[in-house]
Amino acid sequence: MWADDTLAIRSGFERSQYGEHSEPIMTTSSYVFASAAEAAARFGGESAGPIYSRFTNPTVQIFEQRLAKLEAGEACIGTASGMAATTTLLLGSLQQGDEIVATRNMFGSTVNLFKNFLPRYGITVRWADNLKVDSWAPLINHNTRFLYLETPTNPLTELADIKAFAQLAHTHGAQLIVDNCFCTPALQKPLVLGADIVIHSATKYLDGQGRCVGGAVVGSAQLIEKLTAFMRSAGPCMSPFNAWVFIKGLETLSLRMRQHSHNAAELANWLQSHPAVKRVHYPGLESHPDAALARQQQSASGGILSIEVHGDQAAAWRLIDAVNLCSITGNLGDARTTITHPATTTHGRMSAEDRELAGIGDALVRLAVGLEDVGDLRCDLEQALSQV
Ligand SMILES: *Cc1c(COP(=O)(O)O)cnc(C)c1O
Repeated sequence: MWADDTLAIRSGFERSQYGEHSEPIMTTSSYVFASAAEAAARFGGESAGPIYSRFTNPTVQIFEQRLAKLEAGEACIGTASGMAATTTLLLGSLQQGDEIVATRNMFGSTVNLFKNFLPRYGITVRWADNLKVDSWAPLINHNTRFLYLETPTNPLTELADIKAFAQLAHTHGAQLIVDNCFCTPALQKPLVLGADIVIHSATKYLDGQGRCVGGAVVGSAQLIEKLTAFMRSAGPCMSPFNAWVFIKGLETLSLRMRQHSHNAAELANWLQSHPAVKRVHYPGLESHPDAALARQQQSASGGILSIEVHGDQAAAWRLIDAVNLCSITGNLGDARTTITHPATTTHGRMSAEDRELAGIGDALVRLAVGLEDVGDLRCDLEQALSQV
């Protein structure tokens, strides 16, 4: 069994007759059969092999197999986006009457999907107030199929104890879904800790350079087979070109995650003592309420941190408008450092009440720390903070 750094580079790929060293991009919408009988056998499922790229594509399959290995899962399905991964998983496996337990401390579009769309299909979402297991337990009943969480959360970097949540889910015959977007398998392996299903927005660190939108679900072979049948009918598939970008991204993932974490930790430490900063949220700081849990279930603290500046929204906006090096954009997981005001952008569609319950204040600024020289980043933030 290979170690992760080898799997990330070598797994999931068999060379074709040409002996190509690097993974090819297979841009074809359909596949040719040798005979009418073979076509019938493929469509009928009696013979294995590709039919149409909405169902499966060889380049997408390399990505799927590689990510499954890195997450220590049986199988994976690539999707058109991270949100398509969540939609495929939920609509492909739930039915009317089923329930999910989640918190509002999730990616904004996930909250909107859960609040505004799932109830239309007869799926009930029960909302927990925080990420403590004790507050979730009373919300579980015999209809509960999934507990759904992100850890660390966006943008406050709150942690959930994956082992404890997996235990809670299994006690009630439910399953635990973890959105592993912030840590990636390079820093955290939810399935090894007991979770049943991992969700990814490949758009973020798996790509790593802010180029493509994509997503994935990793879980048991049985689940992925079910979701592949859903994909065949519903269609939110990953493009082969994007899959190729993500394959290349996986090759450098662990190196990048180490450096993102290193840069973010250094900035978090420095920001913590800056007079214009009221509070820093970063799991790698001793002041973080879940610092011990972070050390237990993550191999490093990741690249995302958020800060509350002294003052109100205007102060937060002054900081954002004053940066020169950091990019003002909602994306994260990029080699370039990005800076965002969650309350008016990524979390702007949440009601003010939900935002307050999630603890996302007007003075909060999120940094997704990139791979630039950390001294240059510090200089940029220092001059920007002096204008707050
Ligand atoms: C971005 C993101 C998503 C959604 O992914 P898309 O690729 O943008 O659809 C889901 N969860 C988290 C934590 C994210 O950051």
